[in-house]
Amino acid sequence: MGAPTKVLVVGAAGRMGQAIARLIATGAIPGLELAGAVDRADSPLIGQDAGAAAGVRPLGVKISGDLDAALAARPDVAVDFSSHAATAAAAPKMAAAGIAWVVGTTGLGPDEKEAIAQAAQKVPVVLSANMSLGVNLLFALVEQAARALQGRGYDCEIIERHHRRKKDAPSGTALFLGEAAAKGYGWNLRETAVDGRSGLPGERPEKEIGFHAVRGGDIVGDHTVLFAADGECVELSHRATSRDTLAIGALRAAAWLPGRAPALYGMGDVLGLNPGSPA
Ligand code: NAD
Repeated sequence: MGAPTKVLVVGAAGRMGQAIARLIATGAIPGLELAGAVDRADSPLIGQDAGAAAGVRPLGVKISGDLDAALAARPDVAVDFSSHAATAAAAPKMAAAGIAWVVGTTGLGPDEKEAIAQAAQKVPVVLSANMSLGVNLLFALVEQAARALQGRGYDCEIIERHHRRKKDAPSGTALFLGEAAAKGYGWNLRETAVDGRSGLPGERPEKEIGFHAVRGGDIVGDHTVLFAADGECVELSHRATSRDTLAIGALRAAAWLPGRAPALYGMGDVLGLNPGSPA
């Protein structure tokens, strides 16, 4: 086996950053080594060992507030679960340092996404709002189902359920599922999405994708896409029971990305789920 892939975690003091450090320490994806850990300079965890802070064992990597120094140490790949502003600010630094970059941060605005796209002209980047294998498989299946069913009277509705603390609705994953369905149908999601229904919306037109958000308790995240026709209904569902599945997806991307050509990749490429994906 070759040398381990050196991983820098950005947002190392956060929930996902700690999960990444813990799962590297436990060897969830073989061949990865924690080489650096960065968080905000004012984080109370600065100076602490990243492994100990993540509740496993000391890994000999202290959480630092200095991204420039961490990049100068030449990790093979940076895994970023920080904030939309921090990720956008890091983009030109990743490009200048030539470091492959896995971005899991969500809530990115158009300019912030553009900063990432610019970086992807210089370095390979994986950007995905949901890194679980199961959800990415669901994206591929939904697109395939919509393509097979389009023009045959199957109405598409997307139902998502999340914990009571979730701030946005519908979830980013639900919207991405809507994109997958719209792509399969050959539609533009912006022209066809309907967010919930109340009052007297009238009969459902055929060219519509409905979204419905349920909130309550500690539900990690459930998504169902249904295709309802006269006489039958096809349902494709995913249920998350642990956030670790997202961190493991990010680590799969970290193992896959170094050495790839500069481009903006998705998890479908990492997992080989897209037709024409790089192997
Ligand atoms: P969190 O708030 O627990 O952690 C974010 C961490 O980033 C914090 O420790 C914070 O101090 C740090 N941070 C903020 N600014 C920084 C900067 N300038 N430099 C370095 N670190 C900085 O949040 P979380 O639950 O770990 O989620 C982080 C991000 O990842 C969010 O955008 C979340 O929506 C997203 N997320 C994505 C996926 C996915 O599968 N893609 C899964 C879960 C969470």
